[in-house]
Amino acid sequence: MGCTTADVVTALRAAAAVVQEHRDELVRLDQAIGDADHGENMRRGFAAVVSKLDAEEPETPAKALKLVATTLISTVGGAAGPLYGTAFLRASTAVADLAELDGDAVARALRAALDGVVARGKAEVGDKTMVDALTPAVAAAASSTGSAAEALAAAADAAAEGAESTIPLVARKGRASYLGERSAGHLDPGSRSTALLLRALADAAAK
Ligand code: ADP
Ligand code: MG
Ligand code: MG
Repeated sequence: MGCTTADVVTALRAAAAVVQEHRDELVRLDQAIGDADHGENMRRGFAAVVSKLDAEEPETPAKALKLVATTLISTVGGAAGPLYGTAFLRASTAVADLAELDGDAVARALRAALDGVVARGKAEVGDKTMVDALTPAVAAAASSTGSAAEALAAAADAAAEGAESTIPLVARKGRASYLGERSAGHLDPGSRSTALLLRALADAAAK
């Protein structure tokens, strides 16, 4: 059995809660190599997502994902808002009018999300951005042959490793790139938030 619209909404609410819990951690990560706003940007965006979900019931998984996209684009400033907005918008388009998401749909949605982030931000693996978490997540989900929950779990594990892999890197995109060599030795905040989001979605889907 796949993830219904209600399951998707539950998972998105869980992701919002995790973003809220990790707000200060994301602020600290961005303090080290950016402008210290990533945690607050994400908290504000996902708080707005929860308000929207309280006000309207999306009819399909795609509409739920689109609600997240438009809300993040309109409420989150900085680099991450438009990038995550594009990711959720492309994911929404990828699942079209499916009533339930299986593992294959999750894999396609993640692939579309990554393609959107890359089209918008032009980052490659190794540039020390969220792309370093999302790229291995897409590969892991594509290799997983199980349910939506299994695909998300594989993606979350790979994203966590991908985020850790950013620590030694010198940033080549985003604000952290202004620091040059001094950006090395710090975990990229956006790769951390990507790993957190995928873990939250995976944990919710497993229930
Ligand atoms: P800002 O840098 O504008 O303050 P945030 O702090 O909210 O925005 O987000 C920073 C994160 O955005 C970075 O940690 C990085 O992961 C991600 N990021 C920045 N630029 C790019 C890009 N061109 N492509 C992909 N991700 C990017
Ligand atoms: Mg910032
Ligand atoms: Mg900023």
